[in-house]
Amino acid sequence: MSRKTHRIAVLPGDGIGKETVPEGLRVLDAAARRFGFDLELSHYDWSCETYAQTGKMMPDDGLDQLAKSDSVFLGAVGWPGVPDHVSLWGLLIPIRRGFDQYISLRPCKLMPGARTPLADRGPADIDFYVVRENTEGEYSSTGGKMFPGTEREFVTQDSVFTRVGVDRVLKYAFELAMTRPRRKLTSATKSNGITFTMPYWDERFAEMAKNYPGVTTDQFHIDILCAHFVQHPDWFDVVVGSNLFGDILSDLGPAVAGSIGIAPSANINPEKKFPSMFEPVHGSAPDIAGKWICNPIGQIWSGAMMLEHLGEKAAADCIVKAIETLLAEGGPRTRDMGGNAGTVDVGKALAEAVARG
Ligand code: ATP
Ligand code: MG
Repeated sequence: MSRKTHRIAVLPGDGIGKETVPEGLRVLDAAARRFGFDLELSHYDWSCETYAQTGKMMPDDGLDQLAKSDSVFLGAVGWPGVPDHVSLWGLLIPIRRGFDQYISLRPCKLMPGARTPLADRGPADIDFYVVRENTEGEYSSTGGKMFPGTEREFVTQDSVFTRVGVDRVLKYAFELAMTRPRRKLTSATKSNGITFTMPYWDERFAEMAKNYPGVTTDQFHIDILCAHFVQHPDWFDVVVGSNLFGDILSDLGPAVAGSIGIAPSANINPEKKFPSMFEPVHGSAPDIAGKWICNPIGQIWSGAMMLEHLGEKAAADCIVKAIETLLAEGGPRTRDMGGNAGTVDVGKALAEAVARG
């Protein structure tokens, strides 16, 4: 059998992205050697520095260049002095939308030795996924201001929930729940206050559930759901929400699971018609950038999610296991986790663990 080759577009971006991405690649390389596949890397230096030099975050044909890859491996984008609407809308949003990455996926898993802000909670209590709709819903661009500058002035912003858009994210969430031991799916809603779109979401959820009799379902209003994330994280297995509710939950989830430095995320086009993108939850962290003390685990774990998406499940599992073992057995850890190791020390330790298997 011939070896598989996966084409990866590598975008370190800004700040600590330039420190975490090389460690992510180090571990991916170790996994490729051990599990017998090849990675063909294309490097792109698109960042806020590019913006300072050229006035653009990426070239006009940026998406065409990336489209040649199977996946995008991203560090972090954003830097003080460059407004978020420039860095976000100049790079991240065009990739997410242009490649129809309609699923945002974040594992929220308390690793042994990581510090959750929730007292008395251990790794057995916090292990769930947040699935966020990533293309429509509340973050639509329709609406506007009426009677500007007068007493009658008002603004509106529409939410757009299409049948295709809702069904495809629900289907993804049910399919994911099917792969989990508990087979449980929770829906975030607010149908007591938002009386058109949320009842519609609930209706499609109930309809989709009929196709998955093996999945246990429940639903909560977003407000109480946030409280339950904190008080009863052990209730959850897979949680699905609209663009806005998913956005909130996908920051809250990793926060209850401990250090921001270890949380991974994926922006997925499940049909693989376009590349999917894998990036840590954290940003460019200007306060610690350039010191090589940042935690590379969020990046490395994002690399594991990328391998799983590319069909390299054994390699992905091996990386996650290596992270668990390193943290459980007191391996090198960075300052944010109470240690004094450097970024490279952690990357090297994980690459060696993966090489050993
Ligand atoms: P963004 O707006 O891009 O999401 P942010 O500015 O809100 O980012 P981060 O850049 O993630 O937030 O930084 C938040 C805090 O967490 C900072 O104090 C930063 O130093 C710390 N932090 C973020 N990532 C890491 C990491 N990998 N290792 C250690 N500390 C980190
Ligand atoms: Mg920021």
